[in-house]
Amino acid sequence: MNHTTAIYSFELFPPKTEKGIANLRETVSTLNARQPAFFSVTYGAGGSTQSNTFATVDWIRDQGIDAAPHLSCIGSSTDEITTILRRYEAQGITRIVALRGDLPSGAGAGAMGDLNHANELVALIRKHFGDRFRIEVAAYPEMHPQAPNFNRDLDNFKRKVDAGADSAITQYFYNADAYASFIDACTTRSIDIPVVPGIMPITNFSNLVRFSDACGAEIPRWLRKRLEDYGDDIESIRKLGTEVVTDLCLRLLDMGAPGLHFYTMNQAAPTLAIWDNLGLDAAAG
Ligand code: FAD
Repeated sequence: MNHTTAIYSFELFPPKTEKGIANLRETVSTLNARQPAFFSVTYGAGGSTQSNTFATVDWIRDQGIDAAPHLSCIGSSTDEITTILRRYEAQGITRIVALRGDLPSGAGAGAMGDLNHANELVALIRKHFGDRFRIEVAAYPEMHPQAPNFNRDLDNFKRKVDAGADSAITQYFYNADAYASFIDACTTRSIDIPVVPGIMPITNFSNLVRFSDACGAEIPRWLRKRLEDYGDDIESIRKLGTEVVTDLCLRLLDMGAPGLHFYTMNQAAPTLAIWDNLGLDAAAG
């Protein structure tokens, strides 16, 4: 893939405080100067509410910037989901990141809602809204943590594609071979939608370990050990993190990745450090 034709996007989470809102706005205006294809906004992750997501999406749209809301189906009725989609349709939103989501720990089976898996959400969107939305789904090069095995997870990924997903964004990973092997496995099953790697900049060791354990992303032992050695030396962690993730992005683009989706965690600087190393200013848009 030519780096100039790849698609770049930035993920945000909806802030809950005034300070968080001010920070997000600054982050969006800094990153928007890089002309990404879109900003996506998470939904229900980390305890945020539906209204936090709406407010963030509304603000981004008001700036004339493309926003792609995430929408998870777990715990909701189909009526609730279609109501949200109608809201987005009326707003002129053209892209949705369709997910199952996770129930809060301790929630009983009765809290599941009408849809059990993301493929059902994709089918619901297509049934009621046709091609009104471009649909992104999640992909897991290192396997979803609840999947019984890699092949079953891949079968389930294919269900989302068969239901009408246009493209996928991966869970983050630090091993380029995991992505290459996932793409090969997709090819053998005739899954041919673009699968954009999700890129997580490294800024804080303990947060990264916590996230990675929860979502099943592997931090290679050599990297974990080197980051661990830095202790509270944030500057060294960021420096090594930027080098490692820049190298990962270069390998992914060279092996034909159709773009990069940055998990910005609402901070512009760590993503921009990688962006600038990659020389992407001329490439986005
Ligand atoms: P699914 O595709 O439904 O898969 C979940 C599990 O069920 C997998 O193990 C799969 O193998 C299995 N499975 C899938 N379909 C079937 C089926 N038909 N029958 C049997 N088994 C099946 N979470 C949030 O809460 N909010 C967000 O905004 C958010 N954004 C995300 C963005 C990205 C790019 C990614 C990668 C993840 C995001 N997540 C978010 C996390 C996501 O919700 C969790 O990883 C969740 O556990 C799975 O969601 P999914 O859409 O991949 O589910």
